[in-house]
Amino acid sequence: MVYKWRKKIQLVTFPACCTLCGAEGDDGLDLCRGCRDELPFNRQACPRCALPLPDAVPEDALCGQCQRAPPKFDRCYIPLCYGYPLDHLISHFKFRGKLAEGRLLSGLVGDFLVQQSCELPELIIPVPLHASRLRERGFNQALELARPLGRCFERPVERRIVIRNRPTPPQMELDKGARRKNVRGAFELTGQLRARHVAIIDDVVTTGSTVNELATVLRRGGAERVDVWAVARRAGN
Ligand SMILES: [Zn+2]
Ligand SMILES: [Zn+2]
Repeated sequence: MVYKWRKKIQLVTFPACCTLCGAEGDDGLDLCRGCRDELPFNRQACPRCALPLPDAVPEDALCGQCQRAPPKFDRCYIPLCYGYPLDHLISHFKFRGKLAEGRLLSGLVGDFLVQQSCELPELIIPVPLHASRLRERGFNQALELARPLGRCFERPVERRIVIRNRPTPPQMELDKGARRKNVRGAFELTGQLRARHVAIIDDVVTTGSTVNELATVLRRGGAERVDVWAVARRAGN
C-alpha cells in the first residue's frame, strides 16, 4: 500500500530533530535512531487486541480474553507498549498540548501500519472527548493523531459522526470492572455512517473497553469491519 508515507511525513516535520535527546532525527521522524531503538515496541502481542504476550506464545495466537469473549473490533494496530519514555511523550502531548510530540506519535503509528501492510479503512474516527473535557484541554489528542495519518494515507477523518454523551473519568484511574461500566452507553452516532470499514484511533488503549464500546456503536450503525489504531497498549487486561 504505502507509497510515500515517509516522504509525506518528512514534509510535515522537516527538519527532523529528536524530541527525546535533541540529536538529528532519523529518516524524517522527530526521533534519532538510538532513542527509537529504545522505545518499548509491542513485538509479541495478541493480533486482535494487541495485549502484550510472553515470547513463548505462538505467533498469531489470541490472548485468553479474546478467546473467551471476542471484542467488537476486528484488529488492533498498536506499535508500542505503554512505558518509559513513551509515557512522558504521551503526557506532554496530552496534558501540555505539545503538538510536535503528537506528530511524532502519529508518525510511529503510520510506520507501523505500513510495516504491517494494514488494509486502509474508508474512514478514520478519533475517539471523541466529551464537550466539557474538550473545553478544558483545548484539543482532542485522538484527533491530533488522526489528522496527519488521514492526510498521508488520503483517508477522511470524521470527527462529528460520533459523540461522547457524558463526561467519564479517565479509564486509567479505574479498575477493570469499573472501566467497562464507565464507558457503557457513552457514545452516540449523530448521523448515518457511510463506511463499511472504519478505523478508530486513540492514544492509549488501556483495557480495550473504550474502543470496544465505540466499535459496538459503529457496528450498530452499519460498520462491518472496525480496526483500532493507537500509539500504546497497556499490559493489564
Ligand atoms: Zn534521541
Ligand atoms: Zn486479545
